[in-house]
Amino acid sequence: MYRTDAAPKDDAAPKDTGATSAVNPLAATLDLLGDRLTLALLGHAFVSGATRFNRWLELTGAPSSVLSDRLNALTEAGVLERSPQSEGSDRHDYLLTELGRATWPILVCIWGWQREWTAEGAWQPDLVHDPCGHRGPAIVRCGTCHAPVTAHETDIDMDAEAVWTVTSGARRRSKRGPARGAADEDIQFNAVMEALGDRWSGAITGLALAGTRRFARFRSALDISPTTLTDRLGRLCEARILERPDDSGREYRLTHRGRALFGVFVFLIRWSVLAFPQIPGPLRVRHLTCGNLLIPELQCRGCDGPVDPVSARLEPIAPPPRSVAATPRS
Ligand SMILES: [Zn+2]
Ligand SMILES: [Zn+2]
Repeated sequence: MYRTDAAPKDDAAPKDTGATSAVNPLAATLDLLGDRLTLALLGHAFVSGATRFNRWLELTGAPSSVLSDRLNALTEAGVLERSPQSEGSDRHDYLLTELGRATWPILVCIWGWQREWTAEGAWQPDLVHDPCGHRGPAIVRCGTCHAPVTAHETDIDMDAEAVWTVTSGARRRSKRGPARGAADEDIQFNAVMEALGDRWSGAITGLALAGTRRFARFRSALDISPTTLTDRLGRLCEARILERPDDSGREYRLTHRGRALFGVFVFLIRWSVLAFPQIPGPLRVRHLTCGNLLIPELQCRGCDGPVDPVSARLEPIAPPPRSVAATPRS
């Protein structure tokens, strides 16, 4: 259902209309990608060229049933495709599709944010721009006017009717129990996962970027219980993504650190448009400087040139030694 190539219209159409009217593309995107292990799998595909189950198993240390669950979800979503390792073989490589390759700037922004805002940032893959040799995070620019863009130069419209239902996080957790697998030990995504990691947090951070501040407003936009919402808002405050300017009121706003996730979100929103081209998304980002809807691109801080998978590469950094607590259980 995430595929960009439309299914045959005639027989599928009536059923699809009913099914897709409830889809919130960004919530569905967070549902799929706002997951520690999923991001780790994609990261290893981009950085190490991983295409095989055993390679990901070795790189992530995730339990094989959980890994296989995520690879299946990514394949169903059209992010990966299976290709036989040799003719007649029942072993498969998992290759990134075009939609899969389009997650590259999301990961680049996540790692860039971590480098600038978190202690573990030094262990994230290093972005190297080949034309000029610059190393380090890229900036976001407008694909139409090419001016660099931050949250301040944009206006994010929110569809007030859109309901953000996030389901698979809860489903996966209840199925797997509280232990979320060894992927929790993957240092690559620890801090950013506070903002994206359980999907609800991602939806809340997205709504906050669109200007939502009041508890009641978050509550009406999200199909979420007040208890869960209070819990997630509290966790986002602890993670210094949100803050409460006034302790007596129930208002929350993004910190500078939270606002710096703008790049991650504009690329998530962009990806949701590619994945669900027929369905209007809940958030629309307009670049105020030129007045156009923002089509984000990455720009090199060294030479101002475009940064993409062709002109740039990600160099792996050796992770720090794992703590005793993080030693995989056997
Ligand atoms: Zn522009
Ligand atoms: Zn450059």
